Amino acid sequence: MALVNVTKYSKEEFAKFLESFDTVLTDCDGVLWLENDPIPGSAEVINRLREMGKRIMFVTNNSTKIREEFVTKAKRMNYIVEKDDIISTAYLTVSFLKNINFHKKVYVVGSRGIAKELEAAGIKYIGVGPDVLQNSVAQTVENFQPDPEVGAVIVGFDEHFSYNKMLKAASYLNKPGCLFIATNTDERFPMNSDLVIPGTGAIVRAIETCSEREAVVVGKPHTYIAEAIIKEHGVDPKRTIMIGDRCNTDILLGTKCGFQTMLVLSGVTTLEEVQQWKKSSKKEEKDLVPDTYAPKLGDLLPYLK
Ligand code: PLP
Ligand code: CA
Repeated sequence: MALVNVTKYSKEEFAKFLESFDTVLTDCDGVLWLENDPIPGSAEVINRLREMGKRIMFVTNNSTKIREEFVTKAKRMNYIVEKDDIISTAYLTVSFLKNINFHKKVYVVGSRGIAKELEAAGIKYIGVGPDVLQNSVAQTVENFQPDPEVGAVIVGFDEHFSYNKMLKAASYLNKPGCLFIATNTDERFPMNSDLVIPGTGAIVRAIETCSEREAVVVGKPHTYIAEAIIKEHGVDPKRTIMIGDRCNTDILLGTKCGFQTMLVLSGVTTLEEVQQWKKSSKKEEKDLVPDTYAPKLGDLLPYLK
């Protein structure tokens, strides 16, 4: 069967599609915006769906901002949105700790976004920002005095990631009972050039390798994020649609959780890739195939007027 392009639906088919879900989980970068540039038409579609009574949630793997900062960014692009509509990985990581009544200190390999969410929750932390530059491993070892209060390591996107930080994270993780939580495992950032910009997944893998442990990952496609949404917001998976631009995070999450899935082609994954996976006999590849797709979210607007 061919992949279904929702922008080729008849009016009746589109009305049926629209009636089939109450909750919209939308990825952010690649669906709503590309870094700081809005994707034309997306805000109108999301706001229109909200007006029609759909529950809208913004689900992002980006751990560098707090929820309020995503609200500010989204409002600047004309989205109608409130803090509780944002499910971001810095927030989720910290709510994971709150849920288990964590009272120790956190060693953070990550950004100010994680730091600010920890501050808001009253959880102490160390590690954010550039580490003191050492000239050798011997010097790092000599100068590192592990903080005995640390009971968890959080790993998110950290542009100051270094050998020092890896050594410290793995040393804390070597302590019995130390928790290991990662925000997400995206391999790379999308770039319109030949450069490869390593994503959080590369940092997580490095620390997993030397600590000989596996992190609990809260972001897409790991199901913690969906379990949190289903539990906290009473969402019915069958009547939920996940819209994303990246199949190995957004669509795979939807497949695993029994959501409907829609890919937009304004971000990472191409239609050619999806067509290849569709032909594949491997389950891992079949799970990446969305139910439907659209060139971009804004292309749904004519149907919603
Ligand atoms: N992680 C970081 C640090 C990012 O900056 C981004 C996108 O800007 C992402 C992850 C992916 O975000 P999303 O899940 O909204 O595509
Ligand atoms: Ca995305």
